[in-house]
Amino acid sequence: MVADEVRRRNLLVMAIVFQLDKTGNPSPEITCDGCGGVIHDHTQGVAILDVPRAEPEKVLQPIFLCKGCEEHTDKTAGPRRKAPIDQFLVQMLNSVQLLPNDLEAVGRRMMQDAKY
Ligand SMILES: [Zn+2]
Repeated sequence: MVADEVRRRNLLVMAIVFQLDKTGNPSPEITCDGCGGVIHDHTQGVAILDVPRAEPEKVLQPIFLCKGCEEHTDKTAGPRRKAPIDQFLVQMLNSVQLLPNDLEAVGRRMMQDAKY
């Protein structure tokens, strides 16, 4: 039970990371659960729900794969639900009530912070 929880936490830690740039500023990134590489372009990866038939209201961890790993595993994997990363992120923002006006405000705040 504990090992399973640690494994699930490690999966989550693997997928969403902060990568420090050359000046040490952290940038949130998505990593591939297959090869561990950073997915820099949303068109180069997918979010996968590896449990096609789960009971309603169950919480499931997504798996992120880069295009290369997805093409490799798509041939051997069973039925899965998957979404392009852009669609996954927009749905996630909607799930936490981060609406377009909020995004604009965050963008302005980030621009303001970047000036200092
Ligand atoms: Zn990969």
